[in-house]
Amino acid sequence: MRPSDEPALELPGLVRDRAAEGRAKAAHTRARNLAEAEIVDEDPVVGVVLDLTPAHLDREFDYAVPAAMSDGVRPGVRVKVRFAGQDVDGFVVRRGDSTSHDGALAPLRRLVSAEQVLTPAVRELCDAVAARYAGTAADVRRLAVPPRHAGVEKVPSAPEPALPAVGDLLTAWAPYPAAGAFWAHVAAGDGPRAVWAAGPGEDWPALLAAAAAHALVAGRGSILCLPDHRDVARVDSALTTLLGPDHHVTLHAEPGPARRYQDFLAVARGTRRIVVGTRSAAFAPVHDLGLVAIWDDGDELHAEPRAPYPHVRDVLALRSEREGAAYLLGSFGRSVEADQLLRRRWAHEIALPRETLRSRVLVGVSGASEHALRRDRFAHSARIPTEARDAVRWGLERGPVLVQTPRAGYALRLACERCREPARCSACTGPLSLTGPSTPPQCRWCATPEPDWSCPECGARGLRAPVLGDARTADELGRMFPKVPVVTSSRDRIRDRIDAASRIVVATPGAEPVAEGGFAVVVLLDTWLALAGDRLRQAEEAVRRWSNAVALVRPGGRALAVGDPGHPALQALVRWDPGGFAAREASERWEARLPPAARIATVSGAPGAVDDLLTLVDLPSSAEVLGPLPPAAPRGAGGPGADGGDVHRMLVRVPTADGQAMAEALQEALRLRSARRLDPVRLQVDPPQI
Ligand SMILES: [Zn+2]
Ligand SMILES: [Zn+2]
Repeated sequence: MRPSDEPALELPGLVRDRAAEGRAKAAHTRARNLAEAEIVDEDPVVGVVLDLTPAHLDREFDYAVPAAMSDGVRPGVRVKVRFAGQDVDGFVVRRGDSTSHDGALAPLRRLVSAEQVLTPAVRELCDAVAARYAGTAADVRRLAVPPRHAGVEKVPSAPEPALPAVGDLLTAWAPYPAAGAFWAHVAAGDGPRAVWAAGPGEDWPALLAAAAAHALVAGRGSILCLPDHRDVARVDSALTTLLGPDHHVTLHAEPGPARRYQDFLAVARGTRRIVVGTRSAAFAPVHDLGLVAIWDDGDELHAEPRAPYPHVRDVLALRSEREGAAYLLGSFGRSVEADQLLRRRWAHEIALPRETLRSRVLVGVSGASEHALRRDRFAHSARIPTEARDAVRWGLERGPVLVQTPRAGYALRLACERCREPARCSACTGPLSLTGPSTPPQCRWCATPEPDWSCPECGARGLRAPVLGDARTADELGRMFPKVPVVTSSRDRIRDRIDAASRIVVATPGAEPVAEGGFAVVVLLDTWLALAGDRLRQAEEAVRRWSNAVALVRPGGRALAVGDPGHPALQALVRWDPGGFAAREASERWEARLPPAARIATVSGAPGAVDDLLTLVDLPSSAEVLGPLPPAAPRGAGGPGADGGDVHRMLVRVPTADGQAMAEALQEALRLRSARRLDPVRLQVDPPQI
């Protein structure tokens, strides 16, 4: 046996085969290179926008179309191109036979996918949003088009089925006198615009679903943008009830990137024309777009946290103007921006008549004046007064009761019982809090327990708790109503729904569950806390949060706010007049020349870079440059060492009419800085908070 001979006998054959393979491969490669090098005769030029951040590269670049790729290269597809010696991703935005480039064009490197994911309408929208916010269109496109999943592209999208028989879709809108004309215009193919003041107790997901179905019956697609995935789930379910599961998709982060891309493709391919989603859904490439809608525009989740920080309300407004789609902004509260849309007569109001409002909910206020509250707000007896206790009891005889309390947790702040000095950690000076009824005081920053705390000012050992959370509130209510189940819903333990049984639900703002049939009573505790502070939107945000809670009441139910009956925010709630309150806020902003009466931009970065930019920029003559501002408040609790860094923040303010000119000037200045490779500065136009 000569094992080594065995393979040796085979060897010449193998060598021959490999050589032949190699020759075939080389021939194939040559042919491919030739085809790639060979530029197609018909429409050989494409304009490509690149996925590059520097502002001065934020424009179209021309490339030549190789014959081998010609079939798939259309506006909207992803390609790879050679740029400055590197392979760069981009989108084809134009194909034709002309170029302004002198000399030979480089060929496209690769057609990544033949899916048209960036439609011309969305591409132009991205440009308009970049111009509005003085950002780069590449950043906006990253918000608009989700990352590719090649496997998902191989699966065809299920075709849009025939519409099921639907009854009168607009019955639910009938109580709103102005709605009939609005929906008739949508059916006729027009682009009417409205601010919808939803009445308390309204099943708003059902009304939005009916609106999208109505548009689809007229052959028009819709985009419904909602603050979070819980809202998306509610509208998803309402649409499924109305049309079945196969006429809409949901676009949000929860289902994961592959599922998200699959749903996005169904929209891009035109087999689904109703999109329900969060922020990025505003850019969905819906075919035959006829309606864009935003729910609860005051919710901060509608403000994009990534550059250039666009707000859904504005993105959809631009989209409605550009594509002739109807615009609907709905909410229980009202933002000053929504008020502005009405004042400018850009939109009409859709609201309930006064008498209908009165029949839906009765809102009262229980409490002392602000002055008395300030004196005595630490007294527990005043926190849940007799009237509130009676209201809870009245509600429990009829169904579930919602108690809204501003903060999650047990006792969030502690102070000396005698001198009211805030209680602080001996290790790091952080604030002390209680996490439960039988735990010792603990530092909120470093978690050091302080079982033997005594006041460094006066020596007293007793503590009081000026700010109480939902857990402590549930304890108190449990003691008041020992036979009644008390549940909490906040932050990490959110309940989405509860049944119609009698119970008390203690929830923080935004975490309130929906009760089957609605809550019999809604009680708002610690309203002073929601109003405390000097943020620009403090009172507006308080009214929004209260209105959203009160709106969960069943028709004919009651609501009671514990607070200062003289405060205009609570008076607006009692009259259910968020529109009036927004108008009042807007006129105050007008006097103070704050947004939306003015448009502002904040510029932050290294002091030299900020000064340099502001010297360079060609602002309108009406512009004021103010600052430097204190560093932006850190998001979240903030703790020791919240890093301010050496960041300089300036503010540019112009009258609203010059807003676009300001944005364009800032955008141009950023381009110049980028081309000269100067230090970056962070620019934010119309920040939701200053
Ligand atoms: Zn003290
Ligand atoms: Zn500490």
